[in-house]
Amino acid sequence: MKRGFYIGRFQPYHNGHQSVLEHIAGSVDEIIIGVGSAQLSHQIDNPFTAGERVLMITRSLASLGCPFYVIPIEDIQRNALWVAHVRSMTPPFDICYSSNPLVVRLFGEAGIRVQSPAMYERDTLSGTEIRRRMLNNEPWMSLVPPAVIQVLKEIDGPGRLLQIAKDD
Ligand code: ATP
Ligand code: MG
Repeated sequence: MKRGFYIGRFQPYHNGHQSVLEHIAGSVDEIIIGVGSAQLSHQIDNPFTAGERVLMITRSLASLGCPFYVIPIEDIQRNALWVAHVRSMTPPFDICYSSNPLVVRLFGEAGIRVQSPAMYERDTLSGTEIRRRMLNNEPWMSLVPPAVIQVLKEIDGPGRLLQIAKDD
């Protein structure tokens, strides 16, 4: 049984994440998806709760054809202990997939195999760009899976972002 681990903040989950996971699904038996900075929400850079992000991911991967677990992981303020913290929250895994330099470094130092997936259309497929578009009332729906559009409508995602960005 080979398990792969993939971590992100998924603020929000987008087509770049989806492409990576569809790719990983072909090379492992099970996937563990860590929802990082799980304690954060209602901030301009972190607008959505861990539960909302779990919903986006779970619904988008409904027909992935590879079993997966979605696990919220809160931050600890000690990078040197972070991999142990992650492993205490997840089923055992053999390989970590990440392109984030800090994540790559920390897992590498812990002796865990890391692979960095290729970036898909990074100019537009980025959480930062999607949040920027929501804040400016620019089109963003083509950048996320249909299930994410549905979740963001249910929770009034863009409305939340616009409201918390205002001055009092
Ligand atoms: P933000 O701009 O908010 O940081 P992000 O798009 O980088 O959002 P994250 O949740 O930070 O998304 O990323 C989770 C993982 O997905 C990271 O390993 C990141 O490198 C990867 N990733 C992000 N965008 C893409 C993409 N377009 N193609 C492939 N991988 C991506
Ligand atoms: Mg990022």
